Amino acid sequence: MLDLRTPLAEVNGIGQGFISKLKRLNISTVGDLLSHFPTRYEDFSQIYKIADLIPNQEATIQGRVEEIEGRRAWRRNLYIVECLITDDTGSIKAVWFNQPYIKNVLQPGRLANFSGKVTGRDEIHLSNPTYELIREQGTRDERRETTHTGRIVGVYPETRGLTSKGIRYLVKPILENLKRVPEPLPEEILKDQNLPDVNRALKQIHFPDELENAMKARKRFAFEDLFLLQLYNLKQKIALARQEAPPVGADIPFVKDLLKHLPFTLTLSQKKSLWEILKDMSRNQPMNRLLQGDVGSGKTVIAAIAALNAAHGGFQAALMAPTEILARQHYQTFLRFFPGFEGGVALVTASQALVFYGHGLTAETKKKQVQEDIKNGKIKIAIGTHSLIQKSVNFRSLALVVIDEQHRFGVNQRASLTDKKTQGAIPHFLSMSATPIPRTLSLTIFGDLDLSIITEMPKNRKTIVTKSVDVKERTNTYQFIREEIKRGRQAFVVCPRIEPNEKTETTLSRFEWQKLELKSVKEEYDKLSKKIFPDLKILMLHGKMKAAEKEKIMRDFLEKRGDVLVTTSVVEVGVDVPNATIMFIEGADRFGLAQLYQFRGRVGRGENQSYCFLFTDSSSQSTKQRLKSIVEAKNGFELAEKDLKLRGPGEFFGQAQTGMPDVAMQAIQNPEMVKETRDAAVTIIKSDPNLKKHQLLGERVAEFQRQIHWE
Ligand code: ADP
Ligand code: MG
Repeated sequence: MLDLRTPLAEVNGIGQGFISKLKRLNISTVGDLLSHFPTRYEDFSQIYKIADLIPNQEATIQGRVEEIEGRRAWRRNLYIVECLITDDTGSIKAVWFNQPYIKNVLQPGRLANFSGKVTGRDEIHLSNPTYELIREQGTRDERRETTHTGRIVGVYPETRGLTSKGIRYLVKPILENLKRVPEPLPEEILKDQNLPDVNRALKQIHFPDELENAMKARKRFAFEDLFLLQLYNLKQKIALARQEAPPVGADIPFVKDLLKHLPFTLTLSQKKSLWEILKDMSRNQPMNRLLQGDVGSGKTVIAAIAALNAAHGGFQAALMAPTEILARQHYQTFLRFFPGFEGGVALVTASQALVFYGHGLTAETKKKQVQEDIKNGKIKIAIGTHSLIQKSVNFRSLALVVIDEQHRFGVNQRASLTDKKTQGAIPHFLSMSATPIPRTLSLTIFGDLDLSIITEMPKNRKTIVTKSVDVKERTNTYQFIREEIKRGRQAFVVCPRIEPNEKTETTLSRFEWQKLELKSVKEEYDKLSKKIFPDLKILMLHGKMKAAEKEKIMRDFLEKRGDVLVTTSVVEVGVDVPNATIMFIEGADRFGLAQLYQFRGRVGRGENQSYCFLFTDSSSQSTKQRLKSIVEAKNGFELAEKDLKLRGPGEFFGQAQTGMPDVAMQAIQNPEMVKETRDAAVTIIKSDPNLKKHQLLGERVAEFQRQIHWE
């Protein structure tokens, strides 16, 4: 007998060919294969009589093979098999292309089912039908269930060389030889929600008796995944609430005074977010908050004020950014906006340590000295890169940890900064993200975090002139860009995402993606530097460069040692380059709306008018419509919501697969199920906070935690 953990390699009758094809889909155990669900179903359940067939119908017939023959067609690469099938009402021809072996299977006299499309007008035939031999009457297997015909069949997401028929062929015997799968969901929940138990659901999702049962099974698995996610989030939340954090307090007059000295007034949602953060920090339970806001919406200043408030209360704060340039930029923001700050502010990166000890003194310092001053508390605010998490960096009284561009850090990196406890208290935690994930989605996905969202942009922003450029206007647009650059401006170029020809997208590894992206960026770089702008200085940035190399290129661009920066979509240009006024995006139709919107946000940060050009070779109406919504978008969240509806969650999150199954990703968009799973999770956790009485469920939550990753 098999169980879910059995490696497919140990299952009888699965050849090496299948094993390696499945591997490409990340399927290596019985459980993996059984979790590879059909994406849709075809109903071949009714068996028709040949005389009743009508053109264009999808149907199954049962008949005997009368004659069968194969021949090469006049086109040399085409091999045709034709078969004459009869039942007690008549006969029909079936035709297959390039499957010569069919002759060996469907020998004259054999009884078989044929499912497929009825084609032709006057003389109808079955084109490429799926076939399945039927055991003869009177034998032991007479009543054996069919797998591919005469029933509702699942259609699977396919990969090269692995058809739905192939998958059904593998799954059927596995289901027949599967040990009873233990049920992780509590019985009350199954009953309340009217969901099939796991064994029935597995059978019905792959080989449903009725379509409705397949849907119920799907619902069950979606429910299970969302439920696990909710449990995980709740557990995290409860665990955190048991911890103690330093109650920093909020000195309102002090904060007001800081705000008065800023060169701008905060937007309404900046104020609201700041208030939510300060309120959290006054509690003696750790804050765990996500600050979301579009690129350029002004998250840094909020984090800065929260940090200053902590310092003012006698505590320390740390701000971690994913790159040196970004860290340096934050450091400079502090000095620029809050020059009168009395405590020490340090910049700690791999290459450098800078300190500012009030009254305008800033100096390059020995890292050792900085570490010393962080430890003795002289430095109140430490800004840096990963260098901040090193063991050698110890705080005296760390009360606030801010992580910028949180998706760029791994879970462990984040954890090791929050782990820098002082006197048993763990710091408040604020993470910042510019990824515009719709609120509904965030609340579920980041259910363990509280959410603050900056919805509007600062008022002083000039609108970025956005234009969709087609083939005819290319030359003119290049000319325009050249003139802007001659006037001293700079331009970003984002390269098109190359789509692999075949539908192998889901099977590409991150590495393979990077290779494709690299090809695209190199081609673009060559084209621009040799043909279009041979007189300008073009820089190139891509995901396969080493971190230090990337830093250097970004710095070169920031300090204007290049006119044009050609980059891939995987590389985030998380840096403020106020002099860049042009964003041009090749193959704009191939990016998601939310992504395009993000790219555009990279310009329009200085005082000069900025432009965003969306290059496309597509003349399709829907592409135009899509690009138009970028021009009209009020904010990234609205756009993300639209994008999500348009393309579905799988595409929305892009190639960075989340580890979250498709059924669950779809269910996340169903508010009712989100609520039901949440309520169910709350009920369970209330009565059994550590899932001691639901051991299997507890194990599944732990497994789930290892498997998902939102970055
Ligand atoms: P992001 O949210 O992308 O991190 P930043 O914090 O870098 O954005 O802010 C972008 C720019 O906007 C900075 O130069 C910042 O000083 C400025 N800024 C922030 N808030 C406001 C505001 N309310 N009014 C005007 N400018 C602002
Ligand atoms: Mg930022």
